Amino acid sequence: MSDTDLINKLKEIAGDGNVLCDEPMSKHTTFKAGGAARFFVTIPHEESLKSMVPYLQSTGLPFFLAGKGSNLLVSDKGYDGVILRLGSGFERISFSGNEVTAGAAASLISMAAAAADRGFSGLEFASGIPGSVGGAVFMNAGAYGGEICQCLKDAEILFLDGSTEHCSAEDLKLSYRYSCLKDRPGCVIKAVFTLNEDDPEMIRGRMEEYKKKRLEKQPLEYPSAGSTFKRPEGFFAGKLISDAGLSGEHVGDAYVSEKHCGFIVNKGNATATDIHQLMVRVQSRVKEYTGVTLEPEVIMLGEF
Ligand SMILES: Cc1cc2nc3c(=O)[nH]c(=O)nc-3n(C[C@H](O)[C@H](O)[C@H](O)COP(=O)(O)OP(=O)(O)OC[C@H]3O[C@@H](n4cnc5c(N)ncnc54)[C@H](O)[C@@H]3O)c2cc1C
Repeated sequence: MSDTDLINKLKEIAGDGNVLCDEPMSKHTTFKAGGAARFFVTIPHEESLKSMVPYLQSTGLPFFLAGKGSNLLVSDKGYDGVILRLGSGFERISFSGNEVTAGAAASLISMAAAAADRGFSGLEFASGIPGSVGGAVFMNAGAYGGEICQCLKDAEILFLDGSTEHCSAEDLKLSYRYSCLKDRPGCVIKAVFTLNEDDPEMIRGRMEEYKKKRLEKQPLEYPSAGSTFKRPEGFFAGKLISDAGLSGEHVGDAYVSEKHCGFIVNKGNATATDIHQLMVRVQSRVKEYTGVTLEPEVIMLGEF
């Protein structure tokens, strides 16, 4: 099929203005680095998603669903396929009793703030995580002792065989930065979380405390993807990296943050290759000095 036919079909399913060609992923990732997606398509609503997934499968073209790109490193060589992003039809947040239902493209931070305003506790941990609800379910995002798995009641998932399933945290096998969606790909469409009633002032107080800690400890002034590596059991990645003498180590503009060695930051024009080479160097030095293997938390897309 010619590119023109393909683009026309993508536009037919997603809408004219929603299909971009050769779109730099540095614009769509918090690392602000990486190459271009051959096609970058915003999916306006559920019906469009349900047509797009089988269509892309029928073409054999690789495709990938991105959230807010806050845990994503795309190769400088780009992605020779279609990167999908869920659009405004997936951003709704609504409350019923002590439950909040949020579309997969809703911001986790907005959902946590809306819950606090209504006097619902349980999402304070999420108030500084700059991802989408879908990305947070996929990653089982967590901080300060809270995790998505503690409050997720139900996630509606479109699997690649076209089936839609309602999955609990248990069904998704949520554990530390893991969901079974890593092994059985599917798109989170929306998710329901169970919360607890509490005084909005108390909830906001806890959120403020977490925010203060983040500002004090994390290099939020630079582009990054948060913690670059997972926490190895019994250790802290940042401490291991610091002990291995890697604070301030850099490749081009990609630096091991001096403020928090668990973060690799982009201090200017770091490329995805710079970031990746620094990750490999950190892994090998930490292994050499401490014997511990660091596993990336960041999702890498394309050829490295
Ligand atoms: C400054 C900073 C601080 C951070 N702090 C934390 C923290 O405290 N705790 C923490 O856990 N993380 C943290 N992160 C990392 C990141 O915000 C989380 O991993 C977040 O959950 C990623 O969501 P996203 O929408 O950006 O997903 P993306 O980065 O776009 O994608 C991540 C993965 O999720 C998948 N995905 C996205 N949307 C969907 C969907 N709808 N259905 C199925 N799969 C989907 C993608 O395919 C990809 O594999 C931080 C990041 C930054 C930049």
